[in-house]
Amino acid sequence: MIELDGSHGEGGGQILRSALSLSMITGQPFRIKQIRAKRSKPGLLRQHMIAVEAAAEICGATVATGQGEALKLGATELEFTPGKIKGGCYEFAIGSAGSTTLVLQTILPALLFADSASEVRISGGTHNAMAPPTQFLQKAYGRVLAQMGVSMQIELERFGFYPAGGGKISAHITPCPGLQAISLVERGDHVQGYAESFIAAVPFRVAERELACVAEGLNWQTEQLLPRGLPADQGPGNVLLITLEHGMVTEIFCSFGERNVSSETVAKHAINEARRYLSSEAALGEYLADQVMLPFALAGGGSFSCTTISDHMNSNAMVIEKFLPVKFEIEKQGKRHICTVNKLR
Ligand code: ATP
Repeated sequence: MIELDGSHGEGGGQILRSALSLSMITGQPFRIKQIRAKRSKPGLLRQHMIAVEAAAEICGATVATGQGEALKLGATELEFTPGKIKGGCYEFAIGSAGSTTLVLQTILPALLFADSASEVRISGGTHNAMAPPTQFLQKAYGRVLAQMGVSMQIELERFGFYPAGGGKISAHITPCPGLQAISLVERGDHVQGYAESFIAAVPFRVAERELACVAEGLNWQTEQLLPRGLPADQGPGNVLLITLEHGMVTEIFCSFGERNVSSETVAKHAINEARRYLSSEAALGEYLADQVMLPFALAGGGSFSCTTISDHMNSNAMVIEKFLPVKFEIEKQGKRHICTVNKLR
């Protein structure tokens, strides 16, 4: 039984999600206490509870809470004993704007090791602050996995913004006999950059103002600026995505429109993130870095460069090293950090 402390490092939901993925894949049970201890509302929210239920359904796991009660919202501890991973058709409803992408990211690595292909549909939020937007999974995270030999397709069927939710994503995942270790130390040559402002039930001028800021802030031309109107019933919501495609890697920086926050302030956040990335010489930004650690560890080797070492990266390394015989080594090199995965046995 692997013991985990959910208050470690950034003390959020990622410790639980990584443990679920790794437990399913390695067959090792785990017990976690103090789930999301460092968040303002600790314990399981809808998104985390559905991640546990989805993981349990896919591998026939038994789940128990510390007090021997049924799994419920707000639970701060649980025990997860996995069975065999089964491919197939799955549907999960978060029932709030909780992040569909984080639930998908929990079960996706395990489904690569299933006995057959899988179709997964998840409803909830598709564009939430503090979670990867669906396009990030498709283009940034998805591209890294494709380089490791993974074949999968992720569709964004309907946008779901906070707080209404109601979005839908689906994924087709083909089993993969083993992930290939890769090097993502260099980002490669610039291929293209573009900014998209998605708006639903929000005035069109919001998109225009955000994109005008991108044009000025990144010195981009009109053809790189793409306003994307969505059906009003998918809103209200607005997200600005800045996509930077290089020879080896694609990065996406985002910010969300908010009531009483000017379009210029919203745009500035994503522009600053994109600029910081461009000036760093790193291949991966902060978020992509913590998300690729698990697939890199499953490949048993490889290295990548990243802009920064986040608390999420440190706690993810702690969880991964408990389940897999690997050690992460991190060193600073000029304006970037190099993270290398070493196999221990
Ligand atoms: P909580 O923090 O409330 O527990 P949580 O379960 O949503 O919430 P975290 O542990 O904070 O999760 O993990 C959030 C994950 O979302 C991390 O893997 C992080 O890389 C990713 N993420 C956050 N913001 C972005 C973003 N803008 N683009 C891509 N990925 C993001």
